[in-house]
Amino acid sequence: MSEYQLFGDYHTHTTYSHGKGSVRDNVVRAKELGLKQIAISDHSLKHIVFGLTEKKIINQLNDIENCRKEFPDIDILFGVESNLIGSEGVIDIPKDRQKEFNIILCGFHKPVRPDKLSDLKKIYMNSYFCGIFPPTKSVLKRHTHALIEAVKNNTIDVLAHINYSLKVNCGEVAKACADYGTFIELSSRHLVTTDKDIEDMLKTDVKFILNSDAHKVSNIGNCSMAWEIIKKFNISHDRIVNLNGNIPKFRSGYNDKYFKN
Ligand SMILES: [Zn+2]
Ligand SMILES: [Zn+2]
Repeated sequence: MSEYQLFGDYHTHTTYSHGKGSVRDNVVRAKELGLKQIAISDHSLKHIVFGLTEKKIINQLNDIENCRKEFPDIDILFGVESNLIGSEGVIDIPKDRQKEFNIILCGFHKPVRPDKLSDLKKIYMNSYFCGIFPPTKSVLKRHTHALIEAVKNNTIDVLAHINYSLKVNCGEVAKACADYGTFIELSSRHLVTTDKDIEDMLKTDVKFILNSDAHKVSNIGNCSMAWEIIKKFNISHDRIVNLNGNIPKFRSGYNDKYFKN
């Protein structure tokens, strides 16, 4: 028995992007682990290498529908891991399509088509050299602004792997997430926050969500890295929305059925 029991794992990939398992494989594994929900959240449309296409979306939805019929005792969310593509917070799921998904995650990834050519310089340039050149104050400010605008202007339920490839002021982003009801993911794949980043986020009212970001079926539900952070910083379990009996109330409204009296 694991030290932590998740209500759901909301960040899993399939062969529709660069995961190894099928939708059904992921669902079967989630069921074995006793999860009540699983989101299928493959890379979105503007990811150059692994992104979904319109055809893949149709096929994936079909797979999800079939699994819903076959496994009625687990709730399967049709999700997507969208990309931040613009310095003013544009993401690659247009606003008028955001309702199509049960849950929207948003992350920053390098192999992505930016919204405008100018965004290449504004938010991508530094990421290509991350680790070699730490971002200057003005670059950090630009990145932080972009992510905060994304949170404000889109129905983003979960901010995936904060600080991965796009260094931001985590405290400021966390404050915006708290204000708008977006959860910050504690990822077990890309956990690139410093102690100070975690401390800054904890000073806000933001809530966190544990996700595996599994690309292999065997990693579904595995949040061991994130769990170490929770222990190290003694983070109250009340702040982790999918932990030990907690049910996440998503911006999308998908989970509102659990909150009706
Ligand atoms: Zn990602
Ligand atoms: Zn991912």
